[in-house]
Amino acid sequence: MNRNEDLFSRAQQSIPGGVNSPVRAFGSVGGTPRFFSRGAGPRVWDVEDRSYLDYVGSWGPLIVGHAHPEVVRAVQDAAARGLSFGAPTEAEVELAEELLRLLPSLEMVRLVSSGTEATMSAIRLARGHTGRDALIKFEGCYHGHSDSLLVKAGSGMLTFGNPSSSGVPADLARHTLVLDYNDPQQLRDAFARHGEQIACVIIEPVAGNMNLIRPTPEFLQTLRELCTQYGSVLIFDEVMTGFRVGLASAQGLFGITPDLSTFGKVIGGGMPLGAFGGRREIMQKIAPLGPVYQAGTLSGNPLSVAAGLAQLKLIQAPGFYDRLTAATQRLCAGLTTAAQENRVAFCAQSVGGMFGIYFRDRIPGNYAAVMECDKTAFNRFFHAMLEDGHYLAPSAFEAGFVSAAHTEADIDATIAAARKIFAQR
Ligand code: PLP
Repeated sequence: MNRNEDLFSRAQQSIPGGVNSPVRAFGSVGGTPRFFSRGAGPRVWDVEDRSYLDYVGSWGPLIVGHAHPEVVRAVQDAAARGLSFGAPTEAEVELAEELLRLLPSLEMVRLVSSGTEATMSAIRLARGHTGRDALIKFEGCYHGHSDSLLVKAGSGMLTFGNPSSSGVPADLARHTLVLDYNDPQQLRDAFARHGEQIACVIIEPVAGNMNLIRPTPEFLQTLRELCTQYGSVLIFDEVMTGFRVGLASAQGLFGITPDLSTFGKVIGGGMPLGAFGGRREIMQKIAPLGPVYQAGTLSGNPLSVAAGLAQLKLIQAPGFYDRLTAATQRLCAGLTTAAQENRVAFCAQSVGGMFGIYFRDRIPGNYAAVMECDKTAFNRFFHAMLEDGHYLAPSAFEAGFVSAAHTEADIDATIAAARKIFAQR
């Protein structure tokens, strides 16, 4: 047994599945998860001291790479001054102001400790604001693990859903309507039928939890118009896309103004941090100003805020997103060419610093199309790349991430490895 196997079997004795978040268990690809001991720039090292070029980046937060010296120093300095106060600090005001300055849709923002807390709180707020219970989400989008969001589509289109996790009351799931991504007509029909009941629509404005799916402009525009028409709150879940697809996030990229937005990942620089914010009129309904309750012992934690502020400063360097976008495009183009040379059914696309790779001929536009990808081909590719020192997300249905620390030479090394693997099929 090597050290990874040894640790995994030990972990399974004390932690369910041996992991603290399910996808880490390699359940979808099989095999033994790597236990990482350190990271630097674009690389991670496992407990056997094997290094990998990392295209997961802790599932998105590490946009400047692992252990960036300025982020680490900011956390160390903050830690030396105290780990938590449970009282307001100057740095959290600075972070809130910075988020408001970068995103015009945010008139007020509240800091929490995870993306799940941000989406859960935004939904409670939308329900409190509208006095309605129903919400719309889209099949394949993930918004964290709060009860209302762990719901799968009902039996017919436009019917309310059923729990997709044991432990979620059916009574709660029946308030969630699950629709197809990129289907504006279905959205119109749903609002025509249920519009007066809909408190909010929550969407990943670029979906990244069913691999990567781009929204069509018509779909997003229809969504904005219907929410305005029916007085429903439009929530952009930018936990993944926020400061990942560009400095203006997905809302800036597509020119759509949501009523509320949620953030996590990049804004915390690799530390536990989330945020939700938006229109002042809605945000003023949160306690202590208003009747919607929301709180957190560690909310606005000084170490998380320090890491977030340091990373938000780094991403504002001139040309940061141009370089990140170009590097991610280089990866997708290189992988696609390598696959074509070897007649592998494969395609890839990116938005800013996030990408999707698909073992099928055409870029998919919704969940059903993603499900047609060749999972067996992905799993073989994943393991061959891992063996060669390239760490991709351990599932055919997750987006990947490039960081500013990935050089052209790193990207080219990954493409060369893929070419070799495609040729061996
Ligand atoms: N929303 C989106 C779009 C996400 O991708 C995630 C996590 O991957 C979440 C919410 C939940 O965030 P967290 O895992 O920090 O609770």
